[in-house]
Amino acid sequence: MSSIRPAPARPLLRHFINGQFVAGEHRFPNISPVNGECIADVAHADASTVDAAVKAAQAALQGPWGRATVSERAAALHRIADGIQARFDEFVAAEVADTGRPVHQARTLDVARGIANFRTFADLVKCANTELFQSESADGLGALNYTVRKPLGVVAIISPWNLPLLLLTWKIAPALACGNTVVAKPSEESPSSATLLAEVIRDAGLPDGVFNLVHGLGGGSAGEFLTRHPGIDAVTFTGESRTGSTIMKAVADGMKEVSFELGGKNAAVVFADADFDAAVAGVVRSSFTNSGQVCLCSERVYVERPLFERFVAAMKEKTAALKIGYPAEDKVDMGPLISHGHRDKVLSYYRLAREEGATVVTGGGVPQFGDERDGGAWVEPTIWTGLPDNARCVTEEIFGPVCHIAPFDSEEEVVRRVNDSQYGLACALWTSDLKRAHRVAPQIEAGLVWVNTWYLRDLRTPFGGVKQSGLGREGGRHSLDFYSEITTICIKL
Ligand code: NAD
Repeated sequence: MSSIRPAPARPLLRHFINGQFVAGEHRFPNISPVNGECIADVAHADASTVDAAVKAAQAALQGPWGRATVSERAAALHRIADGIQARFDEFVAAEVADTGRPVHQARTLDVARGIANFRTFADLVKCANTELFQSESADGLGALNYTVRKPLGVVAIISPWNLPLLLLTWKIAPALACGNTVVAKPSEESPSSATLLAEVIRDAGLPDGVFNLVHGLGGGSAGEFLTRHPGIDAVTFTGESRTGSTIMKAVADGMKEVSFELGGKNAAVVFADADFDAAVAGVVRSSFTNSGQVCLCSERVYVERPLFERFVAAMKEKTAALKIGYPAEDKVDMGPLISHGHRDKVLSYYRLAREEGATVVTGGGVPQFGDERDGGAWVEPTIWTGLPDNARCVTEEIFGPVCHIAPFDSEEEVVRRVNDSQYGLACALWTSDLKRAHRVAPQIEAGLVWVNTWYLRDLRTPFGGVKQSGLGREGGRHSLDFYSEITTICIKL
């Protein structure tokens, strides 16, 4: 009997409000997608918790943070980056626990980019210029017009689960750099690294109330309470296009500023002159990284007809060789999807593709492990061919490890087919003809076009989508502009 010990208590992930961790009354479970087990309890914010967070953020604007110089804010951001660096392995463990992604991805992408976001915006804000124009006038003296930047106020940040720390810090860092205070609500599917980040921000010595974190769900819950709160001054949101539209309606009465990074149905285009091996490796990467759960992943692949059969065969071989497994396994390529709910959605498309007449080149099912992972949210990486351009599997965002490959015959035709989409986030072109690259890239209706690469990001460049893929741009000075209120001052000389 003495060997029987009580099961260890599950961690409780709490809100962070006005410099304190608070639990409130309600909870929701944090489920591991690896095996379906509950790994933590998460505090679930009600309207009064969200109200307390917004009020703390409003009050903090009147305190020392509201008077902090740009250098002081930049130094605070570097201290946060140092804090993440010092607890690097804990952040990796948090990202991996919530998402089941490969450890090497969490190390090289997620946590590394979390740090880079704070360092980049700390440096950028120190170099941020404003505008100055000298006007002419009949008296020959004219006027001097210049702009000054001020904080927007309280910024509500709502983020998704697919790249939890990366996408949350992509917004927190510039918001703080510009002198705002923040109420952040991470996705209910990935609350762990955000909670750790609150500890780091507390330890970095930011005044109470400058950064607040509330956990909860979206509609009818913390997300909606936050976007409807009259005390916020702006909403920056990354997530599904449909949610963006709901949030836009919620903030319309208050006329709040919004920045939206939304869904996509991105294309990859492989011309016959492309470096074949690089294109195959690139498209495997752009279709299956993070189990296809990156907003920039390519779910539509167009291959110039002379290459088509060979390209599909090479994609099949490389995809079938992807290693699906536990996050810490050596050379693992793919983990599970984020949740059973999301797997149900992806599997419904796997079924629909067959109904729509697709040829399943590889995948299309659920891997069987014969161990605890059979309780997780795994799917096979999947390639289809043979669908018409108007099939739902070719037009709707699936957000899983899946792509459809279709042949094309001319540049004009492929540009038309790529642009025939409700979305317009990103596109990757594969060609060794530079003139073609320069000719085609600007014709693509997307916020971002890569040539012979994918997901190579310079954080100083604008990022965002067109059509249903977003509203506004963030990145570099575009973030500084969004997170600042700009006043023009005109002085008659
Ligand atoms: P989602 O829209 O379901 O949820 C995103 C966040 O919004 C979560 O925190 C959720 O709780 C919250 N939310 C949901 N409904 C809400 C409401 N009514 N009011 C306020 N908040 C609400 O998206 P998701 O499933 O977490 O993420 C996947 C989606 O995100 C995909 O469509 C993907 O393409 C998109 N995405 C886009 C980008 C980009 O940069 N364009 C980046 C990553 C992900």
